Amino acid sequence: MSNYKTCRECGGELFADDIAIHRKLINRGADEFFCIDCLADKLGCTRPDIERLIDHYRSTGSCTLFA
Ligand SMILES: [Zn+2]
Repeated sequence: MSNYKTCRECGGELFADDIAIHRKLINRGADEFFCIDCLADKLGCTRPDIERLIDHYRSTGSCTLFA
């Protein structure tokens, strides 16, 4: 058992933001996640797009996933 989650697609290590944005964009109840790069690929956008979204949700403070 690893004590950190890995990307379902590429196996890369996931961080709290990666998991939070996945929950926000894909599935709030997810227990498998993509890293930001793979998520961007799935959604047809770029890593900076995802990072901007993370900043947005964090700065608005309206999302409990980024509290
Ligand atoms: Zn990945």
